[in-house]
Amino acid sequence: MSEKITALRGATTIEENTREEIVSKTVELVKTLKDDNNIGSGVRAVSCLISTTVDITAFYPARAVRESGLLDCPLMSCLEPNIENSLPLCIRVMIELASDEKTDFVPRHAYLHKAAELRPDLAKISKTMREREKACSPEISGKDRGKVLNVAIDGPSGAGKSTVAKLLSRRLSMTYLDTGAMYRAIGLKMHRKGIGLGDVEGIKRTLDDTVIEVDTIDGVQHVRLDGKDVSGEIRRHYVSKLASDFSAVKEVRLKLVEMQRKIASEKDCILDGRDIGTFVLPDAVAKFYLTASVKVRAKRRFDELTAKGEACELDAIERDIETRDYNDMHRDFAPLKKADDAIEVVTDDMTVEQVVAYMSEIINSKR
Ligand code: C5P
Repeated sequence: MSEKITALRGATTIEENTREEIVSKTVELVKTLKDDNNIGSGVRAVSCLISTTVDITAFYPARAVRESGLLDCPLMSCLEPNIENSLPLCIRVMIELASDEKTDFVPRHAYLHKAAELRPDLAKISKTMREREKACSPEISGKDRGKVLNVAIDGPSGAGKSTVAKLLSRRLSMTYLDTGAMYRAIGLKMHRKGIGLGDVEGIKRTLDDTVIEVDTIDGVQHVRLDGKDVSGEIRRHYVSKLASDFSAVKEVRLKLVEMQRKIASEKDCILDGRDIGTFVLPDAVAKFYLTASVKVRAKRRFDELTAKGEACELDAIERDIETRDYNDMHRDFAPLKKADDAIEVVTDDMTVEQVVAYMSEIINSKR
């Protein structure tokens, strides 16, 4: 297939020079460009250049670009000189896009907030197109409807949460967010940096310097840690213990919970974890507590690991599960427990299909 390259442009201003503003406005800008241009499906980002005015110093915006799901392309950032009468606190982006030469791809640039003044022509085109699309398909996203549908699935390790959540998300066309994967990525990062559990300052510093992205591409979940795919590594047995240990650290939880709430506020999502119904999304429209006996859960994990060729012993896994259950249920901050309004599903004697059918019926009844 021959491809043609198109330059896509965008800019935004921020209100003040803070990390939160830089991250949220950069993510908004890149997500707008991604959505408006179908980047990732049919159109591919080849490279991304981001520039900022010199008054933006609180955070490195190129990092925020990764948080917006532009994952694979090389990224470069630079400072712009002060030009007389230019807009202050401004972030610009240029994304090089590759599209099939035969398709008639027209880039939709985006100039947001005060940056619209810079290119009223392009800001208007983008806005008009978005409005037209909204009128054609009023069901675009939960955010546009003003209400998102969130489902919380909590329960101990190995209860089958992620298997069920993945199938449900496909069946119900919702996004699946595996929050355990995020704790695993953090555990792995701390391990790689040699940060111990007692080193709170080191943990805080590392959290500020860590970017985790969870994305589903062609139905397969990818977890990136600081831009590198760690989807395979985080499933290794040694990472389970690290995730469980570091998940008890309040700072770790606060950082990940903030990310989880943000994702869930933007689209219809199914989140699985330990504290989703009780802490992350107390207003989720449907809450489930999935559980099974320790023996059944240990056998499932054993089968999963041996299928991947990882050497393991059933007894050791059983003991690990008991320890992790204990840690999860007894930590001070947001421990694992069934939310009062959650529906308990004991999966010992149920097939995956039975569990999915039961839960999807309940979720559909709440739509
Ligand atoms: O679900 P998974 O086994 O991948 O999660 C790894 C670890 O992360 C769990 O043992 C648990 O300690 C922690 N976790 C958590 N809160 C969540 C999700 C996972 O504490 N919402």
